[in-house]
Amino acid sequence: MSTHRHANVHLFYRDEYVYDALEEGLRHTFDVERPRRVRNALVGAGLVSSADFVAAPAVSDAQLALVHTSDYIAAIKHPQTLARYLLLDPAHPWDHRLLESLLYASGGTIAAARMALAEHTIAVNFGGGFHHAQADKAEGFCAIADVAIAVRQLRGDGELERVLIVDLDYHHGNGNALIFAGDENVFTYSLHNAPWCFLEKRNNADVMLPARADDTEYLGALRDTLPPVLQRFRPDLAVYLAGADPFVEDTLGDARVSEQGMLERDRFVTGLLHERGIPMAVVMAGGYGPSSWKIYRNYFGWLLSAGAGGGA
Ligand SMILES: [Zn+2]
Repeated sequence: MSTHRHANVHLFYRDEYVYDALEEGLRHTFDVERPRRVRNALVGAGLVSSADFVAAPAVSDAQLALVHTSDYIAAIKHPQTLARYLLLDPAHPWDHRLLESLLYASGGTIAAARMALAEHTIAVNFGGGFHHAQADKAEGFCAIADVAIAVRQLRGDGELERVLIVDLDYHHGNGNALIFAGDENVFTYSLHNAPWCFLEKRNNADVMLPARADDTEYLGALRDTLPPVLQRFRPDLAVYLAGADPFVEDTLGDARVSEQGMLERDRFVTGLLHERGIPMAVVMAGGYGPSSWKIYRNYFGWLLSAGAGGGA
């Protein structure tokens, strides 16, 4: 395997992802600095230079309209409405930067997916993965269905047919599942603690975890259920929602996956896709509390160093 894999891993980040205006109470749950923290840690470790990060454009209105209704798009442009949708404190004086941070993070998802597909490699967006958002509504802190928009955009470009969404955020990826409920060319796989919706669809897999799953239970469920998906569905692209909220230190999730177990998870998914030659776009998705960022540092650090050939 290559020890110079880092040349092929593309990274998308810009400072607009970080909108540091949350009220104190929420700052403990949402580490809004997380993307920057992960970037700085990787730069500090000498794995990458800050010039290696690509600043993608924000998602446009036309791109929002690939998934969202026009009424919904108009509504989220009002900062107070968007704040309400995101369950933020309505008393706070929100401004346009709240939406802007989401538009840029979503634009990064499109750019990462496009890059992964074009270069047949791995591309990482240091944000995105808003998997509860739906055509006409926000849910679970998610307002823009960035992954679904990316899929529709690339298909519109004629670059893409079949997509596998591997959603390992601790919560059900119900938004993407519902958006693609009638589309068998998008396989939605979600490993989660509780169902948020039920689908009658061939190319959908909802895998329920036992309560407070430990490394053995969590990794066992993943190893039992994800490889069979790839036996029968051959995607042109995989989008991996590498949510950190199964981590034992997560302040919202109740799973007990260790830091090492989380890295093992990410390596397993990466290796599985790599050995089948499937390009992969990675997005951050959920992960709460002050230590969530470490999970991404570990994974992306591994991608950037020797291991991303899949076998290390
Ligand atoms: Zn989550």
